[in-house]
Amino acid sequence: MSQKKSAADALLKGASEEEREDRWNLRPRRLKECIGQQQVVESLHIAIAAAKKRGEPLDHILFFGAPGLGKTTFARIIANEMGTAFKGSSGPALERGGDLVAVLTNLEEGDILFIDEIHRLSKTVEEFLYPAMEDFRVDIIFDKGAHARVYRPSISRFTLIGATTRAGLVSSPLRQRFGLFKELTFYSEEDLLKAVKRSASILEVPVEESGAREIARRSRGTIRIANRLLRRVRDYAQVKGDGQITRELADQALRLEGVDDIGLTDLDRRLLRTIVENYAGGPVGIEALSATLQEEARTLEDMVEPFLLALGFLVRTTAGRKVTERALQHLGIEPTTDAQAKLL
Ligand code: ADP
Repeated sequence: MSQKKSAADALLKGASEEEREDRWNLRPRRLKECIGQQQVVESLHIAIAAAKKRGEPLDHILFFGAPGLGKTTFARIIANEMGTAFKGSSGPALERGGDLVAVLTNLEEGDILFIDEIHRLSKTVEEFLYPAMEDFRVDIIFDKGAHARVYRPSISRFTLIGATTRAGLVSSPLRQRFGLFKELTFYSEEDLLKAVKRSASILEVPVEESGAREIARRSRGTIRIANRLLRRVRDYAQVKGDGQITRELADQALRLEGVDDIGLTDLDRRLLRTIVENYAGGPVGIEALSATLQEEARTLEDMVEPFLLALGFLVRTTAGRKVTERALQHLGIEPTTDAQAKLL
């Protein structure tokens, strides 16, 4: 199970490679370098300019969207544009109230505190965040009952940037304390094409237009995946060709990686096939799918399903997930049961 899980994670997330991205400067540093997400870029541009004009820290911002769409990138860019420090943490890393208090009391005026996976903060930790976000103070309570004393150190006026793959799991009191909500959406093929060309030029990889487009088309609407596939194709082109990425070499390399014509991976196909073969096309609950596929429910919900839903290959109903006619057609599956036939 753990082996499978890490394979899926590596395929979709490419975390270790991404750490190296900083060295290669693949991450844009300024708003004007960003590709796509026009509405987000424009409103951030205005919010940043206005905050600077007033000489105030930026309002708290919540970014939501699938992994790899740019939540961390935008948070870092905001710190750069504001000329302030970026301090990063995550929901699971802030286990106790004290962990968060330590972070908060070390912030300086205008700092950006980035909390990734903010929906995974515990209730207790979250409660420390409310007065910090609203009044820039923390409430530390010593002792209990009649002896209880509250110590309220003030903290510097900072900007919290939360990121989540699941806006619905962010509690409503927390959500209400953000001034801006920005959804990051899947990138268009044209935007991914720009991203592939930009990364190829930074990495100094020669790439033909049709080769870059092949990678863009198969990147599941996600720049992180486009960058990862570009590296795989680069390796392949260096070994099997003369280093130049052509459409043909890109196609061969991506097939070898198990990435099909429209960017689906082995795990995507396994998920769809499992619903068809084991659950007559659905509906099936996420826990049952997770047990059958031996993948964590969270991996399926965060990394696999969003793109399948966006493609219209999967629908979510109150009873669970169902595959659609489109998915069956893509997989070349003939409906064999009444339930599957009903999908057509
Ligand atoms: P998230 O935090 O949403 O999981 P990241 O911010 O880590 O995603 O983005 C993944 C990678 O995609 C980044 O390392 C960066 O290179 C690239 N990227 C993200 N958004 C953009 C963008 N708008 N323009 C160019 N590259 C981007």
